[in-house]
Amino acid sequence: MKARPKRLTHKQRRKWHIYLYWLRERMPLSAPVIVRTCLLSDSGDSNRDSARFYIRVGNHLDYRARIETLAHEWAHCRIGWDTVMLDHNAAFWAEFGAVDAAMVTISAEMPEELED
Ligand SMILES: [Zn+2]
Repeated sequence: MKARPKRLTHKQRRKWHIYLYWLRERMPLSAPVIVRTCLLSDSGDSNRDSARFYIRVGNHLDYRARIETLAHEWAHCRIGWDTVMLDHNAAFWAEFGAVDAAMVTISAEMPEELED
């Protein structure tokens, strides 16, 4: 079965952008990052070239899964520029824990009108 794009609600789209804004502020990366939502067979991936990180998140995912994928891929980028980004090693999971904690804080600070 081919994955079909899922539409987010207006509130969910706003929250997605708020997460991105605060992740950039509180969990900065060592280079600029471009985050795209697009048709993927996986939930997401991350990559880099000489200047930037690139995070892709599958648009077939629902809102909750997109947020979780964003945290996961952000942690990969946090690992750094020179190390192998694809490893799910202890350093990755430590970084994922930090990103996840930041996401929980961002979620708790969401404007009231964006609560579900
Ligand atoms: Zn991964």
